[in-house]
This record gives sequence, structure tokens and C-alpha cells, in this order.
Amino acid sequence: MTTDGRVALVTGANKGIGHEIARQLGVAGITVLVGARDADRGKAAANELRQLGIDARNMPLDLNDEQSILEAARTIERDFGKLDILVNNAGVTDPEDGVPSIASTSALRRIMETNFIGTHAVSKAMLPLVKQAPAGRIVNLSSSLGSLTLNGDPTSTYYAAQLLGYNASKAALNMLTVQLSEELRGTPATVNSISPGFVKTDLNGHTGHLSVEEGARLPVQFALQGDDAVSGQFVEAGAQTPW
Ligand code: NAP
Repeated sequence: MTTDGRVALVTGANKGIGHEIARQLGVAGITVLVGARDADRGKAAANELRQLGIDARNMPLDLNDEQSILEAARTIERDFGKLDILVNNAGVTDPEDGVPSIASTSALRRIMETNFIGTHAVSKAMLPLVKQAPAGRIVNLSSSLGSLTLNGDPTSTYYAAQLLGYNASKAALNMLTVQLSEELRGTPATVNSISPGFVKTDLNGHTGHLSVEEGARLPVQFALQGDDAVSGQFVEAGAQTPW
């Protein structure tokens, strides 16, 4: 497959929505760096994409290991000198998460460490490379569960899932989106929070109702935004989600 010269890094791309985002970006002609914390899983996922004719490369990257993040940034700088698309997809839930009266303190730390602090560390390390691209695009995989408004709205379909750690981590991620978008104001680069919907993956024991193909569609659409790109938005299935 011929590539158009653009390069994308997708974190947590060895499975689930991230793997499908990597596939869809690859099919669109973009060189895809398959971020994965486990070397074997990363190599297997990149191989699988290459067999589809995609220019996919394994990129070891653990959100909880700053050295691996800095090493990935150095490799991208050396090999490409820029990063057109960063999809902050990697994320976790935790069995010890729950409503405030039962959520364990260690679970809150684990979730925030990956979903917010790790995602910020990746974004910060990759930012100089995103700024080197003609029109950098950052897509943060958020969740409507991170909406403060919907968590307090008994009529919302999301109201039942009161997971303090996970929901707070996505609300914090949304703050990263808003503040980073402000930092990027006046530049061609954009950053948005996208909720993929309720997707059947390991994250939720495959209880979701959307396929990974459906869940990847909106994040990919925002990763491929053209000159009229919006920034600093929180979106699910084409509609604005309340913060
Ligand atoms: P998934 O199938 O469990 O995949 C999660 C991916 O993140 C895996 O590749 C996992 O790697 C990786 N990951 C976890 N911790 C990591 C770390 N420290 N460093 C690097 N990679 C790490 O989940 P998914 O459903 O595709 O979720 C993808 C994103 O969408 C997440 O941010 C999630 O919060 C968000 N989201 C999902 C849904 C849904 O309904 N599924 C809804 C809203 C938002 P390993 O294989 O090594 O564990």
C-alpha cells in the first residue's frame, strides 16, 4: 500500500478500539506506529496490520514508564522528524473501582496513573513532534462517563455507571484536552476528546453494543480532520457531549 507521508502513533494499539483505529488509519494511507506496552503483543499486532498491506511498525510504549515514552519520542524524531497524528487510546478500568463509598484508593491511583497522568506524559513528549507536522491532530479517547453533567443526571443512560476512578480519569483527560487546545490556539494543530460509544472489548468484558469498527469511526474521523478542523471539543457519535 502506498502511504501519503503522514505518520500516526496510536497508544494501546495491540487490541480493541486502538488496534482498529490503527487499521483504519493504515487503510487511509498513513504510516501507523503501533504503541504497545508488551513487546510480543505489539509485534504481533503490527505484523497483522502489515499482512493487510498497511505500513505498520511496532512502537514499544508503556504509559506507566516515562523512559519508554521518551524513547518512543526519540525514535519518532529520528525516523520521521514529526508526528501528524497522536491517538491517545490506551486506557484501563479496575475491578476495585466503584461508587465513592466503595472505590479502593489503590484502584483510583492505578486508573489515574494510566488514563490521565500517563496520557499527559505521552502528549507532552510527543507535542514538539506534533508541532513539526503541517497540521497535527491529537485525539484523546475519552468517555461520556467522564461528563460531570451526565454523572449528575438521573435521566442519562450513563447515570448507572458511577465508577469514581474511571469517570474521574476521563474528566481529568477532558481537562487536558481543553487546556492543550488553548495552548495550541493560533496553530494548525488540534486536540479533541472523543467518546467512542459503548464498544465490545476486553475493557468491559465484551458487554458493549458497538463493534470496534463502529467505535473507531469517530476517533479516526477526528484524526483525519482537514483545514476546517475543530479543537477543544468533547464529542460522541457526531454530537457535542456536555462537559
Ligand atoms: P481494551 O480492549 O482493554 O484495550 C486497551 C488498550 O490499552 C490495550 O492495548 C492495553 O494494552 C492498553 N494499555 C492499558 N494500559 C496501558 C499502559 N500502561 N501502557 C500502554 N498501553 C496500555 O480497551 P478498549 O475498549 O479498546 O479501550 C480503548 C480506549 O477507549 C480506552 O481509553 C477506553 O477508556 C476508551 N473507551 C472505551 C469504551 C468502550 O466501550 N470499550 C468506551 C469509552 C471509552 P494491554 O493489551 O497490554 O493490556
